[in-house]
Order: sequence, then structure tokens, then C-alpha cells
Amino acid sequence: MNFLDSEKMAGILESRGFLMSKDEKKCDIFIFNTCSVREKAEEKLFSYLGRLKKRKRDRNLLIGVCGCVAQVEGNRILKRAPYVDFILGTRSFHKIGDVVEYLIENYGEKIIDIEMDSSPYPPEVKEIKRNELFREYVLIMEGCNNFCSYCIVPYTRGRERSRRLINIVDEVKRYVNVGAIEINLLGQNVNSYRDPEGYDFPDLLSEVSKIEGLKRIRFTTSHPKDFNEKLLSVILSRKNICKHIHLPPQSGSNRVLKLMNRKYTREEYLEKINMIKKSGIEFGISGDFIVGFPTEREDDFNETMSLLDKVKYSSIFSFKYSPRKGTYAEKNFKDMDEDIKLKRLMTLQNFQKEIQLKLNREKVGKIYEVLVESISKKGETLMGRTEQNYIVNFKGDESLIGKIVSVKITDYSAQTLKGKIIY
Ligand code: SF4
Repeated sequence: MNFLDSEKMAGILESRGFLMSKDEKKCDIFIFNTCSVREKAEEKLFSYLGRLKKRKRDRNLLIGVCGCVAQVEGNRILKRAPYVDFILGTRSFHKIGDVVEYLIENYGEKIIDIEMDSSPYPPEVKEIKRNELFREYVLIMEGCNNFCSYCIVPYTRGRERSRRLINIVDEVKRYVNVGAIEINLLGQNVNSYRDPEGYDFPDLLSEVSKIEGLKRIRFTTSHPKDFNEKLLSVILSRKNICKHIHLPPQSGSNRVLKLMNRKYTREEYLEKINMIKKSGIEFGISGDFIVGFPTEREDDFNETMSLLDKVKYSSIFSFKYSPRKGTYAEKNFKDMDEDIKLKRLMTLQNFQKEIQLKLNREKVGKIYEVLVESISKKGETLMGRTEQNYIVNFKGDESLIGKIVSVKITDYSAQTLKGKIIY
């Protein structure tokens, strides 16, 4: 979501004649688009700001902080870094063009806009700086009403609001017309999508999937409590909806899930996983986990480990719990010992690695359709993804980037598959 917001800000500024530069020394305007899901991002922001302080003494620079940290910290950023010129929250970043132009004319003034605007729809931003033409990200809804006890998002992104179905479909058509073959539909909880006419997320997915020329549709993120049969049946009925479900459980213990205010039990979560598996179609299932949530006992942690064992995720994102200021958990629960959290995180990640190794071994010899995304990290091969979101590395020409090719899996590691193009 933050990445897309950055593309929108860059697009708005470029449409007004500003240029992006990779060379910091050449820049006159610095904009930090921030995330505060984890503590590290905030620390990083202030360390970057500190570096600019001296530079700003030597010449006129405009410095702005946008996004989630701006939203929750607001004025406090100016107290700590008074040389910052503007602060725009998550629901005002689209004003960036006017703000920058105003401050160039009125250098020295400060602007802080962190109002949660009350419009029922997210702003329709058309100027988006695109880096890849074959793959696009499209916002469908923003905000969250779930208030998981550890999470800062409802405070940084506000209440849920959705774009009109017709605007989303139009945007996707525009991208497909200029060469996009994969679309990622984004929202804090896509299953809460609601068009004012009453269309829900499966309806939207179904409409988008009818767009001619669109080869792949992905979406993120689904809240387990809202994942239902209607959604699964749309996914199964359309070839171009990727068979990958990101369904974050966070914990496998009912006691911890209750404290987290996740609004589902382990049993209900597993029922949804079984529903997906019973389809008989190969799905990639991924999830997010928080270990060391306050009061998490050894038996709670073992329940999480057993969930991993039962589901057999193709990949996971796992983190140690870190208290986010202002959340229910931060105000009401005592944080756990760091060493225990770290030990549990390592245990969980090592176990998941074993699971992935086993799952990947079983894929050797299979043939997958892979969308080529880039040159791999090591620079020797191409890197792409199957519709299940498995990462595959293989030899091939750079001209294949943005195309779908058939790849036979020949080798594997815990994280990636290796293969050979089938012509
Ligand atoms: S569903 Fe929970 S974890 Fe996800 S954004 Fe909303 S409050 Fe945060």
C-alpha cells in the first residue's frame, strides 16, 4: 500500500514538472513516505532526517514526511526535527502537488495535514508513476475496522472505505490496454470491500476477471474471518485468478487469538484452509505470524507450531511482537522477554524452512507457467512467479521479462525453485 502511495505521489509531482533523482546530492525536495507497522521504520526515518539537517543549513531544501508515521506522530515529528517543512497523513498525501508548489513560493512556512477526511471514497488519483508495465497495483479499499489489539493500522489508515467498482474496472482496463498482464488488487482487508451499489469483493473479482487480455489477478490481504465459500468459488471458476491465498493466522492458539482480537478460532481458521484444500486444485497458501505476543506460553507457541504443521504454508512472514504505541495491547499487556521471543521466532522459522524444503522437493519434475519479473538477485538467472506465488529462477534472455513462460522444475531450496524453460 505504501509503495503504491509513493508511486501516486511521484506521479502527481511528475505531472507538475518535477523530476525524480536517484542522486541524493542533486535533490531539492525530500519526501519520506513512511510505514509504522513495525518500530524500525520510525527509527530509520529519524536517522535519515538527521542526515538532512546539516545539508539544509547549507542550502534551501524542502523536506516532507508522509504516510503512517506522519499520521500518528504529526506535530511530534516537528518537535524532534523542526527543519521538516511539511507533514501529510495517509489521507492527505494526494495533496502533495499543491503543498510542494505552495512551499516553494512560501519557503519557511510549515504545513501539517493529518486530517482523516470524511469522504466515503478514497481519492481517485490518475497520475501514478509506473515502473513496470506488465504488472500493476490497484487500490480497491483502504482502512480497517477490525482493531486487532496489536495493530496500528486502524489508527494510521482510518476506517474502511472502498472505491466504486466501475472506477476500479476502468483503471484495470486502462492498464491492460497498455500491456499489463497481472493486476494486484490491494486493500488492508480486501474481503471488506463494498461498493455503494452493494457489490462485494467476490463480485468485484468476478468483474475484473472478465477483462479481456488480463492473464493474472492477485489480491492482498484477506482477513481469515471474512474468507468464504463465495470468494473461493469465484477464484476456482476463473482461470486468470491466481491460485494463491494469503490468509494470515498470526497465532495458532485460541487463547492468544482472543487476546489479539482476531475474531476467529483456530478451528474456524482450519476449516477455511480445508475448504481451499478440498478443491483439489494446487494453491499456494501463505500466512503471517506474530510470536511472543504478551502472555504467550509455551503451550500457545506449540499450538502455532502445530498449525504450521497442519496447513503446510508455501511461505510465511513471521515477526517478533513489538508493541505499537496507542494500541490496546501496548496499553494493557506487558511485553515479553526479548530472548524468549527471539528463540521462538528462530524455532518457528527453522520448522517452516523444513516444511518448505519438503514441499519444494515434491515439485521437481512439474511444469509451471511463470510470469518473468526480473533478473534474479544474484544476476545470473531470470526470476519469476507461478500463479501459486512460488518463486522460480531459471536461465533465459532478459527480453522475457513481463512474459509468461513454461518452466520445468529441476531443483529447489527452501525459498526458491530452479527450473528450465520449455519451448
Ligand atoms: S485486520 Fe487487524 S492486523 Fe489487519 S490491518 Fe486490520 S487491525 Fe491490522
